[in-house]
Amino acid sequence: MATVAFIGLGNMGGGMAANLIKAGHTLKVFDLNEAAMAALQEQGAAPAGSVAEAVTDVDAVVTMLPAGQHVKSVYLGDDGILKNIPADTILMDCSTIDVASAREVIAAAAEAGFAMVDAPVSGGVAAAAAGTLTFMVGGTDDAFEAAKTYLDAMGANIIHAGDAGAGQAAKICNNMMLGIQMISVSEAFVLAEKLGLEAQKLFDISSRASGQCWSLTSYCPVPGPVPTSPANNDYNPGFAAAMMLKDLRLANDAAEGCGASTPLGHLAEQLYTAFSDEGNAGKDFSGIINMLREEKL
Ligand code: NAD
Repeated sequence: MATVAFIGLGNMGGGMAANLIKAGHTLKVFDLNEAAMAALQEQGAAPAGSVAEAVTDVDAVVTMLPAGQHVKSVYLGDDGILKNIPADTILMDCSTIDVASAREVIAAAAEAGFAMVDAPVSGGVAAAAAGTLTFMVGGTDDAFEAAKTYLDAMGANIIHAGDAGAGQAAKICNNMMLGIQMISVSEAFVLAEKLGLEAQKLFDISSRASGQCWSLTSYCPVPGPVPTSPANNDYNPGFAAAMMLKDLRLANDAAEGCGASTPLGHLAEQLYTAFSDEGNAGKDFSGIINMLREEKL
């Protein structure tokens, strides 16, 4: 078993780090939040006083940070990962960040002689705790093979998406589909309500017809048809609207950067911006049905 540095022990990283410990690895952890570090210390991890201290004498580094600027500073800063790791350390960034930043950091790692992958996840906090995440991995074949040993301890599906940045590309493309589909399912249920069609009937029909998709069958935005969906729990997340908005912005920025046309992606971003601005950033993203029900858009 190996020694792994884990940086970023938040909602996702905390559970992921715990699963590396359960798999038998020795963990050195760092987070700006001391309570997050204390929680991992209780589970057997060694807390470090800085990024540099955490990554000294390790075999692998995993980062799970909020956004591109955090990832760049933690990897590229003077006190950061690339200046302080031993030779042959494999690097895995599991944060959801913009494709350009992912490629920049992986290129800097390669220049310094290190193998690195971008490995964003799908699955949320429950899957992070259960070790059942889906990892979308970008990087060379060798980097993917080296990372897979560690990712296997945290996920159920580890998929090599392509070269550096391909994991982030897959993540934002997937989540743009998800955001658009949630709005489309929500609009259909609001229309059904106004036409006098029962929600359960629409569910029974569309889940067996051509409208079926994950936002309908696994995450239905009205209470009832899917008892585990956040609609049955006052739209507590789940997957917060703020997170969906972040991913839609990443998708639309990437689309602008490469000349792809995403008219529905832009509209979804506008609708999630309005929903978040109404005080719902912390609500589940399926709660957008309530805004669609109330408003003449
Ligand atoms: P979070 O805010 O709970 O955790 C981020 C952690 O990083 C915090 O504990 C913070 O203190 C720490 N941090 C920030 N800057 C740091 C630094 N310089 N050094 C050390 N620690 C630092 O966020 P999260 O929900 O765990 O999400 C992490 C990433 O995973 C994000 O990119 C998010 O988009 C992605 N993601 C989240 C979910 C979800 O459902 N929460 C699902 C899929 C992907």
